[in-house]
Amino acid sequence: MRIRDFQQLIETMYSRRDRQRGAARSFLWFTEEVGELASAIAGGNQHNKEEEFADVLAWLTTLANVEGVDLEQAIRKFTEGCPGCGQMACVCEAKMT
Ligand SMILES: [Mg+2]
Ligand SMILES: [Zn+2]
Repeated sequence: MRIRDFQQLIETMYSRRDRQRGAARSFLWFTEEVGELASAIAGGNQHNKEEEFADVLAWLTTLANVEGVDLEQAIRKFTEGCPGCGQMACVCEAKMT
């Protein structure tokens, strides 16, 4: 599934409630899911990791919808190379460690 299609799916599924809740409270849910992802990674169970990666991505996508950000458009800056060094295989390790 394309990123744009996933964003549209989340929009169709949840947008009414998401807009009522707003960005600030949606962000709290997002951070809760980030915490669950941290626990899943620490726990090492593959199925649980998949679930929590999906939850984080869904809440990130909800935030993008509430804030009117097109994610597929937003990630374009990565499709022509690393935003830091411009290379397809990043060579800015020194800056990122
Ligand atoms: Mg979760
Ligand atoms: Zn780079």
